[in-house]
Amino acid sequence: MTAVEPNAPAPGPSSVPASGDRRRHPAPAHLRFFHGPMDCGKSTLALQVDHNHSRQGRHGMLVTQGDRSSAPQISSRVGLSRDATEIDGSTDLRLLVRERWRGGHRVDYLIVDEAQFLTSAQVDQLAELVDESHVDVYAFGLTTDFRAQLFPGTQRLLEVADDVQRIQVEVLCWCGLPGLLNARVVDGVMVHSGETVVVADTAPAELPGAGAGSSPAVRYQVLCRRHYVRGDLGPTPAGPGQLALP
Ligand SMILES: [Zn+2]
Repeated sequence: MTAVEPNAPAPGPSSVPASGDRRRHPAPAHLRFFHGPMDCGKSTLALQVDHNHSRQGRHGMLVTQGDRSSAPQISSRVGLSRDATEIDGSTDLRLLVRERWRGGHRVDYLIVDEAQFLTSAQVDQLAELVDESHVDVYAFGLTTDFRAQLFPGTQRLLEVADDVQRIQVEVLCWCGLPGLLNARVVDGVMVHSGETVVVADTAPAELPGAGAGSSPAVRYQVLCRRHYVRGDLGPTPAGPGQLALP
């Protein structure tokens, strides 16, 4: 994670120009995209990048959608969280930043979590913020959906981002190989079709009859490519990021 920010701004708080100054004296801004499978620690990394920048006296804006906490914040499984602005597919991210400016707030950088859910047009809006308004953008998202195909936002970011990094995988398949792909598990069986987005965590599904209602129990499990292709969830379906002990 220390290699994430090789071009961290050196100046202290007093020498950081306001957004207006940045427009007059354009410093090169960047659109950076970090991607990986579920449980790879991307929200933790997003919060770390935010921390590193705010420590330099820069002012950030955090946006997310469908965060697992169902509240407008970026949260990670290691217990960190920060308030964020909830967006949806109709949000114009340029207007969002300009509104913040109109309110007298600086926005030096934008942290976008769950970037896989962005529309292609929203990714282009981010690129415009970088090129025309010199706002640094850090986007974090899942690489592929449960069908092992790129999410729309991910695809567009791979096409236009200045810098793309696959997040160092911290999650393992049950076999011990690095986890690469997100399997959707419905009632204990891996499925290959259905809605692209079904909000569920990677936690083990609730036990049947525990008040979960009549809808089928949906969860996600990260697998290596071989076991994803085979649909093999392992001898004992494991919880999030857990390696089934032999
Ligand atoms: Zn495996």
